[in-house]
Amino acid sequence: MELFDQISSMGHERVLLCSNPDVGLCAIIAVHSTELGPGLGGCRMWPYESDADALRDVLRLSRGMTYKAAAAGINLGGGKAVIIGDPKHDKSEVLFRAFGRFVESLNGLYITAEDVGTDVEDMEIILSETRWVTGISPAHGGGGDPSPVTAFGTLQGIKAAVRKKFGEPELRGRCVAIQGLGSVGFHLAKYLQQEGAKLFGADIDGEQVDRAAEECGLEPVSTDEILQVDCDVLAPCALGAVLNDETIPRLRCQIVAGAANNQLDQEDRDGAALTARDILYAPDFVINAGGLINVYNELTGEYNRERAMRMTRGIYINMMRVFEISERDGIPTHVAADRMAEERIAAIKSLGARNWGRMINHRLTAP
Ligand code: NAD
Repeated sequence: MELFDQISSMGHERVLLCSNPDVGLCAIIAVHSTELGPGLGGCRMWPYESDADALRDVLRLSRGMTYKAAAAGINLGGGKAVIIGDPKHDKSEVLFRAFGRFVESLNGLYITAEDVGTDVEDMEIILSETRWVTGISPAHGGGGDPSPVTAFGTLQGIKAAVRKKFGEPELRGRCVAIQGLGSVGFHLAKYLQQEGAKLFGADIDGEQVDRAAEECGLEPVSTDEILQVDCDVLAPCALGAVLNDETIPRLRCQIVAGAANNQLDQEDRDGAALTARDILYAPDFVINAGGLINVYNELTGEYNRERAMRMTRGIYINMMRVFEISERDGIPTHVAADRMAEERIAAIKSLGARNWGRMINHRLTAP
């Protein structure tokens, strides 16, 4: 597809090509929507094979952020950035400062954050050039590691799905299989243990498995078996595209509800296949919004973990709403989640001229 057709077909407001050959910076910032607030989304650093691949990724990911924020009920739009380069070899202070200047040039239309290939240290370099950056350390007023908040939100989504499927949200005695026991998966296992669930888990990293087995009473299973465990809830917390032609027929769960991004390999086809097997799917961008809600809290006042957790509790209600829409319109849950986000954006748009109101604190008003 031609460049401009590609951009306009997905409805992006603005795409900025960032080039600074002196420091080796080739980056793209995509602002998909600022209807609900500034477009926020991480900055991914990746050695893309072509500029076209980088563009495709940033357009798709920034659009996804619009939906995630809208579904979470927060006042943010969708944006994303990609830096073309190898994070192992191409990082430098001057590269991130140069990138920070491009972020600054958008004057708050785009707010950046960590993503694959970037970390808190990179964000703090960017902070020296622009205030439009989140995911910074608590020492600089940031929220620190978002994973526990993401895990807490995932727990809320699991409770909503259990309520929908079995009539009550109680997790005591329910069996949950967790794929991936990293930052989110481990914290999720902790929460589920406190709720009295019976846990199975797998990770390609044996140390993560040992830690979760020891500290959360989880029963290890092999990475080959985890998707086929006979359980109430399967919680993918590792990779994308785990729900596909090959895996869906072999699932032995009633519910899929986990934190991993982009769980459906082919959205419509795999979403429909889950529905046909009467497996309730908790859409990923609704259930894993805790991390986004966490960085949003960096923007809306003094960062406060308790408040971030309180807001994240709302994922239970958001998920119930997705199930209602799915039933109301007779559509799979992943389509219902899109519809919920689109309905909110349309409702706020109908108010007329955009007003970001007072939800973004000092960062908007600071000199
Ligand atoms: P992480 O890297 O800390 O953990 C992922 C774990 O999955 C690792 O321990 C890894 O060894 C394991 N893994 C990889 N391949 C596996 C396989 N085939 N089988 C079993 N285990 C495997 O990442 P994380 O921060 O915990 O994120 C997990 C998922 O949640 C990712 O998809 C991420 O995009 C998504 N997510 C995370 C956050 C957050 O706040 N960290 C927010 C939203 C979404």
